[in-house]
Amino acid sequence: MSDYKLLIGGKLVDGDAAMDVINPANEEVLATCPRGSEAQLDAAVDAAKDAFRSWRKVPMAERRAMIVKLADAIDARVDEFARLLTQEQGKPLAESTAEIAYTAAFLRYLASLDLESKLIEDNESRRVEMRRKPLGVVGCIIPWNFPVLIVAFKAPVALLAGNTIVIKPSPTTPLTTLRIGELCAEIFPAGVVNIVTDMNDLGARLTSHPDVAKISFTGSTETGKKVMASAASSIKRITLELGGNDAAIVLADADPKAVAPGIFGGATMNAGQVCLAIKRVYAHETIYDELCDELAKLADAAIVDDGLKQGAQIGPLQNRMQYEKVKGFLEDARANGTIIAGGTVEDRPGYFIRPTIVRDVTDGMKIVDEEQFGPILPVIKYSDAEDALVRANASPYGLGGSVWSPDRDKAYELACEMDSGTVWINKHLDFGPNIPFGGAKQSGIGVEFAEEGLYEFTQVQVINEAR
Ligand code: NAD
Repeated sequence: MSDYKLLIGGKLVDGDAAMDVINPANEEVLATCPRGSEAQLDAAVDAAKDAFRSWRKVPMAERRAMIVKLADAIDARVDEFARLLTQEQGKPLAESTAEIAYTAAFLRYLASLDLESKLIEDNESRRVEMRRKPLGVVGCIIPWNFPVLIVAFKAPVALLAGNTIVIKPSPTTPLTTLRIGELCAEIFPAGVVNIVTDMNDLGARLTSHPDVAKISFTGSTETGKKVMASAASSIKRITLELGGNDAAIVLADADPKAVAPGIFGGATMNAGQVCLAIKRVYAHETIYDELCDELAKLADAAIVDDGLKQGAQIGPLQNRMQYEKVKGFLEDARANGTIIAGGTVEDRPGYFIRPTIVRDVTDGMKIVDEEQFGPILPVIKYSDAEDALVRANASPYGLGGSVWSPDRDKAYELACEMDSGTVWINKHLDFGPNIPFGGAKQSGIGVEFAEEGLYEFTQVQVINEAR
């Protein structure tokens, strides 16, 4: 029997079946974990529906205090959770430690937000007030790249607004979330937080469930389309945080040596498995060769190893499917471009791929047009910044992007023209719970974080009173 439990209706329970979780650094079974059944998912939704009746009436200050208590409980176990996260997800321990610490910080910050009614008019003819009410049961569907932090993008705002939740982790990274479920069982009233695992077979049931009012989904654009179609059956509210193909545009006046570390880090964090990672670089022809060489130097020097090993900078890919997918991108790079660093898989168990820099590539190639979601960075030459912008914007994605130049005005002008939800200047991958985050085009619908993110878990209600 597994040491890990699902959380349904306030009880920590075994799954109706079991599944193995693999450590991607050695391909060995890390733990056996409960696998929820359709009946267990339905029971979780029922429990959340029942709990909603009273949770919505709990004063906001009390709901807030419980979320903060969860943040404190996570903070008290950062080291233990970080270790487990590295073992199931693969990322270096320092990145796992940051993920767990950020999880507590996001819970705490988002719990501090307020939902106030707004008096729109109050005069001799009418009094009009706008309130924000909770929606009901919210399904939170989580991917495997930041399996813990992404829970903290959704759960605190959903709960603070008075909703109850059913969390469905990704099948390859459920363990740390289940441990956090043990803390939730002690803090929240029964049914307010539920966690059910699956093997990619319960998501569709959750998104089509008639008693679920909203789905907050983070994952691939392909699955996001299915979620959207499925949610249509009952006009569920949806927030979709999907894939990206972030472009970094490096202008002619940028210093290749100075910008290369930021670009390399922005492309290879979490072995490149970041929705907002840099996935293609447009470099001006005058600095192209030098920037390629600087990036190659960084890639050659990077330490690829088991995330638990001290000094490891880049861990394995998270799962076999993604590993095979990224190997396909390597083949494309080999066939259509010039690999100047990396390009190889490590000769050992585990899903390790060396950071890879590919030059002499252009738009229209798989390696440039598609989301690699791995440690592979294509560098594309351009001669005119306006043209680079058009090419960057030609993607169906629009999550993030960046412009690199000491000329702030020029960089700002181009940044404003980029068709993506976030654009950075002279950096990439900087975000926080107070900064709204969302994707343009096929990178998503809606936003997370800040008041804007909280509002997505509410229904506007207008009370319009005669005088
Ligand atoms: P995925 O779409 O394969 O899976 C995400 C989740 O959806 C998992 O929990 C999975 O079990 C579930 N799921 C699978 N089929 C489903 C269905 N039919 N209905 C409902 N849910 C279903 O994504 P992934 O491979 O886990 O994550 C990688 C992708 O996520 C990348 O494309 C990445 O860019 C994206 N991502 C986006 C963000 C963002 O904030 N925009 C953040 C992280 C990851």
